[in-house]
Amino acid sequence: MSTETVVKTTCPYCGVGCGVLASPTGPLSAGIAGDKEHPANFGRLCSKGSALGETLSLDGRLLHPEINGVRVSWDEALDEVARRFSKTIAEHGPDSVALYVSGQLLTEDYYAANKFTKGFLGTANIDSNSRLCMASAVAGHKRAFGEDIVPAIYEDIELADLVLLVGSNAAWCHPVLYQRLLAARAQRPEAKLVVIDPRRTSSCEGAELHLPIRPGSDVALFNFLLGQLASNPDDPAVIAARKDAPDLAIAAELCGVEPADLAKLLAWFAETPRALTLFSQGVNQSSAGADKVNAIINLHVATGRIGLPGAGPFSLTGQPNAMGGREVGALANMLAGHLEWDRPGEAELVRAHWNAPNLAKGPGHKAVDLFRAIESGQIRAVWIIATNPVVSMPEADAVLAALAKCETVVISEAMRAQDSVNLAHIRLPALAWGEKSGTVTNSERTISRQRAFLPAAGEARADWQIIAGVAVRMGWGAAFAWNSPADIFREHAALTGLGNNGRRLFDISGLATLTDAEYNGLEPTRWPVPSSGEGGHRFFTGGLGAKLVPTPYRLPVNATSEAYPLVLNTGRIRDQWHTMTRTGKSARLMQHLPEPFATLHPDDAQGVANGDLIRIESPTGNSVLRVQIDSDQRPGSVFVPMHWTRQFCPQGRINQNVNAEVDPVSGQPELKHSPVRVTPYLASWHGFLVSRTELGVDLADWCAMLPTGAAWRYELAGLEPPDEAFDHLLARLDHPGAWITLIDRASGLYRAALVRDGILLAVLFIGPDHALPAREWLADLFVRDRLTLAERRALLAGKPADGAMPEAPVCVCFGVGAGQIQAAVEAGSCSLEVIGIETKAGTNCGSCRPEIRAIIANAKALLSEAG
Ligand code: SF4
Repeated sequence: MSTETVVKTTCPYCGVGCGVLASPTGPLSAGIAGDKEHPANFGRLCSKGSALGETLSLDGRLLHPEINGVRVSWDEALDEVARRFSKTIAEHGPDSVALYVSGQLLTEDYYAANKFTKGFLGTANIDSNSRLCMASAVAGHKRAFGEDIVPAIYEDIELADLVLLVGSNAAWCHPVLYQRLLAARAQRPEAKLVVIDPRRTSSCEGAELHLPIRPGSDVALFNFLLGQLASNPDDPAVIAARKDAPDLAIAAELCGVEPADLAKLLAWFAETPRALTLFSQGVNQSSAGADKVNAIINLHVATGRIGLPGAGPFSLTGQPNAMGGREVGALANMLAGHLEWDRPGEAELVRAHWNAPNLAKGPGHKAVDLFRAIESGQIRAVWIIATNPVVSMPEADAVLAALAKCETVVISEAMRAQDSVNLAHIRLPALAWGEKSGTVTNSERTISRQRAFLPAAGEARADWQIIAGVAVRMGWGAAFAWNSPADIFREHAALTGLGNNGRRLFDISGLATLTDAEYNGLEPTRWPVPSSGEGGHRFFTGGLGAKLVPTPYRLPVNATSEAYPLVLNTGRIRDQWHTMTRTGKSARLMQHLPEPFATLHPDDAQGVANGDLIRIESPTGNSVLRVQIDSDQRPGSVFVPMHWTRQFCPQGRINQNVNAEVDPVSGQPELKHSPVRVTPYLASWHGFLVSRTELGVDLADWCAMLPTGAAWRYELAGLEPPDEAFDHLLARLDHPGAWITLIDRASGLYRAALVRDGILLAVLFIGPDHALPAREWLADLFVRDRLTLAERRALLAGKPADGAMPEAPVCVCFGVGAGQIQAAVEAGSCSLEVIGIETKAGTNCGSCRPEIRAIIANAKALLSEAG
């Protein structure tokens, strides 16, 4: 490709769906910039999007098909998948096979997977990891609107006078939308932001009000607002809402917040027609997720705050194409194109459109049940596409055990270094982000093109091609004879118009006749796009046509107990994406929060200090994590990021502790509420090792790996005596050359450095606790070609002679740490803008601005205390 080529594509991470300009600079590299013309981001990218260019290497990629770990040709691999699936169906029926797919798939891939499973395999056992993410929003939408419809659009974020952010740390999880919100508030300071979340997160910086509600009490809060504000007192939903949360005092008690704060929210909502409620996983990932969604929608419908500029309920989707998956029906309880089994004639429309010999007769297993059916042997062959269920599913160890005994596990994946791939009998290499071509749909229903700008890696193929390859071998070639993603898109778009005539709001039949050139050049387009009439609009103006749904408040399924007294809440952090297969490649992104951690309120941190290791245990598993003690955490709860895998920290995975209770309506698991207990992890020694060679993550009882760019850093702790660990680790490094060592056995201090020809090859520090020399300076020495004499002398002291230490960055774009920002405040800089001018912090992607604001506020408070 020419170095001048600029390809317009879309970010593969969150549901904001930002437009990206990719400028290839070689077969494995590209410059990345935000697309100023894309209506989602207008040129902005967050830290993850900005670092996309750092994730394009072949490190860890799956490059060739494999059967039982042996490289084979594509023909052999596809023949074997077809043979195994045909045999299993012949012997045990169509419901003995399943597909488990992903919101990472492009719409065309998703469509192919759904058609293959429901139309030709003859089972609806296809579910998506989107079940873990937004199934409750889908269920809530269907109950209120009769269809999975998001009524609002991104522009409403700028037009709203009151924004409620519920169960969402948008500052970290949907950063560009959050930046849009902050920019709008800077223009209109009278607009208010209220954050409703058990934790005080970065999204609370600048909010007028934070309601730290009791985990799982969202329905009580919204029922209270509905009961106070609804003008239709005879509606069953209003009657139910008033019954469960009749007055301010009880609602405040149920939610665990101050009555005055709840009264303030009530008054603001009552006086503000342009009110918008943005919600995300804190709402959806609950055993009452669908009711939470409907409680929010009820309030907007009953008060007419919906479908109008600046007003409405607005589900923020987690994944780049969760919405596309919903459109093609790649969830076990959906058909395709928003068509439903239980509406007369609609299954027949799908069957006829696909010319399907064996259309599934009704819904299949949703994710949690699907893996349980694998465990019980009911499902004997599963094909996993673009997802990592042994990390991301609740009760993850049970999922791992189920897959380990499954007769046939097929995985299509871009990455080889991925926990679930290890369990597959057949591995099929799939294209990665920069190599794929198709469409994705973001949270506001805008369809954008993802365009390839790199050649396929190794023998990787598009997911739709792989699926079609198996379908051909199973005898269904005519229905899968696509030549390009454009062919699939046209077929999908045409289905949405069949028998429609305004009956279904999801209609993109206006795109069904795009030529290949028009498809390739398709600009971001918000649906609906009917073949006649206007499109792209808001839905359910003033609540017209929407239903109120009774949502009686109920507690999470599993309550805390004496044995498990804390509530575990899992979620994302700012600079990582899902199971780190891509963001973990960027040394820059790894710097912000380099280890798996657990955040505890000081009241719950009995017997542990900040930085200690703790063990988290539930009835289904345990993890060991670094503790962060933080009064922003709600007492009684512990937050742990979802990202770490066996590839980075085997003991830092968390989802084996997460209960697999599901919402009875949506089937979405309760990932935000699992009872656990916390105890100190009593290691005999702690340490860290930095090495120019990668050493694996089995160096110690607890081991967390962090690529730094020039080297690999390992945080370590162990149960054996420290001198044994020291000898073992030196032997493991196995570098020819002389070690410089400093050993003080009485104090448990062991230090070693290996320098050859002036080049630092490795350093190892062991001590009785985590208070070891700062790793950042030592890791920084690996960037140098040669160490100076002063640096060599300072090595085992663990700090430079002049005492100037680098620190972990808050702003990863410019490598600015908290100390630098504090120093600027102490020197007189008093605002985010001035800090930006002086240090550059926060002036690129802006993802760190909420944290910079918090550091400024803390530094100012300390200065004023000091007088
Ligand atoms: Fe990608 Fe960030 Fe935009 Fe989400 S907000 S789509 S992660 S650039």
